[in-house]
Amino acid sequence: MNTLNADLHCHSVVSDGTLTPEALAERAKSQGVTLWSLTDHDEIGGQARAAAAAAACGMDYLTGVEISVTFLHQTVHIVGLGFDADNSALMAGLQRTRGGRAQRAQEMADDLARVGIKGTFDGALKYVGNPNLISRTHFARYLVEAGVCKDTYEVFRKYLTEGKPGFIEHRWANLKDAVQWITQAGGMAVIAHPARYKFSANEELALFTEFKGHGGLGVEVVTGSHSAAEAATYAASALEFELAASRGSDFHSPGESRTELGALPDLPGQLTPVWELLADRIQHAPKVN
Ligand code: AMP
Ligand code: MN
Ligand code: MN
Ligand code: MN
Repeated sequence: MNTLNADLHCHSVVSDGTLTPEALAERAKSQGVTLWSLTDHDEIGGQARAAAAAAACGMDYLTGVEISVTFLHQTVHIVGLGFDADNSALMAGLQRTRGGRAQRAQEMADDLARVGIKGTFDGALKYVGNPNLISRTHFARYLVEAGVCKDTYEVFRKYLTEGKPGFIEHRWANLKDAVQWITQAGGMAVIAHPARYKFSANEELALFTEFKGHGGLGVEVVTGSHSAAEAATYAASALEFELAASRGSDFHSPGESRTELGALPDLPGQLTPVWELLADRIQHAPKVN
């Protein structure tokens, strides 16, 4: 008996998770994951460690990344799977995408100070595992520590999001560039957690149509960010747009994440799983006797 438990979306200390790639691999394995991918935000510096850790604990591995894109004035996340992690155009593109984060973080801290919350830049820095990747999540952790909010969910309801203190509009990568960096590195581009965006029906149609036009091939259907109803909605979209379907927890931290690694419903049966199209990109764990 060997049911595939794929978890193709999570974060380590290389971006805004709290576990190392090695600790995540062990946790995924102990939760029954058999095919895993580490998808840090805008950064593939953890890939070699993740692949080695997956092999050491007997899990198949796909390289992964989650790229921040600006599309119609919103931030959209594009997951890349199964690319060549040494590809220089991908690495250069990601480096450019990360570039504005320090300046943005300073402006976020200034905006929080404006409403009386001081010291958040240094506070957030304490939580940063990778100096090139200071993110809203690190600010959220500090705002909890400082007693401003009881948990990070409350932070994202009251701060750091559009129209709230600490939100700074930012220009990320272009959709076309992100899809092409991934695809030209031999990987598959996947629209992450589509239910999270606040697009009108027409805007969402534009996202799916342009994504496909640039060579995108997949969409997350079952994710820690979707309700069962949302998964059903995007299962229908996957069929309508002839996209392969992905599955991933978006796990960040044992204390914060509501969805555990690998603890997700199966993909609806009529969909084509992304791992079928990526079969020759999977790094297989050595067989143990
Ligand atoms: P950044 O890349 O700096 O904009 O940070 C985005 C990260 O904030 C996401 O990847 C999530 O980890 C975290 N986050 C958690 N809840 C929310 C939310 N409601 N809205 C936006 N980001 C959130
Ligand atoms: Mn995140
Ligand atoms: Mn995301
Ligand atoms: Mn994510």
